[in-house]
This record gives sequence, C-alpha cells and structure tokens, in this order.
Amino acid sequence: MTAANPEVPTILSLEAIDQPAASIRKYWLRIISDGLGEPVRVPIICARGNEEGPTLGVTAAVHGDELNGIRVIQRLFADLDVNHLKGMVVGVLVVNVPAFLRQTRVYTDGFDLNHVMPGRENGRASEVYAYRLVDRIIRHFDYLLDLHTASRGRINSYYVRADMSQEVTRQLSILQNPQLIVHNPPSDGTLRGAADALDIPAVTLEVGNPGVYQRSMIRSGTEGVHNVLSYLKMTQDNIVPPASPPVMCKRSYWIYTHTGGLLTLEVNLLQEIKAGDLIATQRDVFGTLKEQYLAPEDGIVIGKSTMPVNRSGGRILHLGLV
Ligand SMILES: [Zn+2]
Repeated sequence: MTAANPEVPTILSLEAIDQPAASIRKYWLRIISDGLGEPVRVPIICARGNEEGPTLGVTAAVHGDELNGIRVIQRLFADLDVNHLKGMVVGVLVVNVPAFLRQTRVYTDGFDLNHVMPGRENGRASEVYAYRLVDRIIRHFDYLLDLHTASRGRINSYYVRADMSQEVTRQLSILQNPQLIVHNPPSDGTLRGAADALDIPAVTLEVGNPGVYQRSMIRSGTEGVHNVLSYLKMTQDNIVPPASPPVMCKRSYWIYTHTGGLLTLEVNLLQEIKAGDLIATQRDVFGTLKEQYLAPEDGIVIGKSTMPVNRSGGRILHLGLV
C-alpha cells in the first residue's frame, strides 16, 4: 500500500514559502535547467511552528553520494510537533541533485560543490548551481547544520567541524553529542564558509560513511538536531546530554601515501596514537613490503581509508591533534 502523494508545488526561492502556522509542507525548488530545458528541482521540506522564531536550515547531500543526512532530515520531520514549534525548520534533503542522480560525490562538471561556494552568478555549471543555492535557499536561514559523510573508500567517526572560537557555533557543535569535534575556521569554498560570510552560524556534521544508511549514525544525527532546536528555544524538549564528552581537536590533517601499492591500515577509528606508531603498511601487487607509515605526532584517528589500492598521494588517515 502506498500513501497518497498530493501535488508538491514548485517554487523559485524560499521567499515564496507562505504556508499556514503549525504546518509541514513539501516543495520542489527550481534551481537550474538541464540540457533538455527541463527544470532541475531541489527537494525541500519545511515546518512552520505556531509562533514566530528563527529559521534553522538542515542540508544534506552537498556531495551526491552522502545519504545518512537525508534520512536524518526525514526522521526529524517525522518527529517534529509543529504545534509546539517556534520559527521554521527547513530541510534540504538533497542539495546536489545532479550528483545524487548519478550517485557521485562531485557535480556533473567534475567540480566539488563544497569547494566552489558561494559560486558565481555567471560562471561554469557548478558555480551557477552554487550561487543559486545560496541566493535562493541558504541566505534565508538564521542557522545552518550541513550534514555530510566520509567520501567513498573512507570511513569516519561521528564528528563535527566548526569554528570553536565562536560561542554559537561552539554550542551547536557540542549539542550534536559527537565522538569528536575539530576546530576548523570556516574555509573558503565550503557551504559552511558561505553561510558564515552571511553571518549565519553554521557547523558541518560528519554523519558516518557514504552510500549507506547507518542506523546508529542517523539516530545520533537526529538527536543532535533536536538538541539544537531546544537550545534555540524553538522547542521545549529536554537536551539529551552526551554519553561521554567529545574529544576536542585543535586541528587536523590527512596523512598521504608517498608511493603506490596496496595499503593495509593498522589503526582503528578513534584510536589514540603516539608519534612513531605504525599506522599503515603498503605492499606491491606481489605482496612485497614497500613502505611502513608511522604516525608523525601524537593524535587520534578521525577517519581512515578502507580502499587498499593507492597511487602516490593516496589518503591514509585523518589525524586529529588533541
Ligand atoms: Zn560531504
């Protein structure tokens, strides 16, 4: 049995949303036209509370193969009680529709949408898409939670990237109850950076792994958004405290292979490692040991490669410095 699916209206901007108080509505937001001249539309779901208040934006699938965030938004809206909500919650279920349809990370012109924000009004395809996304959707938010996952061939802990020197983004981060928080000032080209440039406090949530639904990650992500709604006084739910405090990292970086071959990781996610610890071994295709990689300094494993085949310059692991 399938539920009836009434016509979902197409809009051109979040400005066009004019729904009654205490309601949830679905929209298609027209953003570009494809090669046939047909509209490409972004799926949006919007909850308007019964009182005025801030607008919280939650975005998923800026990279087209990052799926956990989509389910977080679906679950969030299934749980929301609009009769006890102040303000608006806007879920952008799939930001990068062309990449989602192809199940790729990057936009159809080969560029990473999260490197070209806020785009250009007259630019190449990814830049135009980014520009309209910011202009028609993002700038209408008061706060932004941008949901990501690891990229293909890698796995992540449940962690947040945010500017911990700003009080609001610091709070938004802690409320996610993540395993780990990486202090990271908003960098050029990211959606978080574009939001920050518009004075919209924004954090990036890394909700697990690409191309899959992970139930525990989705549950954690949904709980984090509910905590933010409570903190912003948009709901009156109790804030769920963390099971254990997050590991705070002052910065982080990737460690790369310097030769080609087949890589075996010797460490696990969230493992604390010491300078000089063996983190990975690399063999040629015949099984002959080519390289042993040692930790350059003390740290914790935020994310790591699961893909053995690596050229020179392949990613080994994402090291957080505590
Ligand atoms: Zn991503």
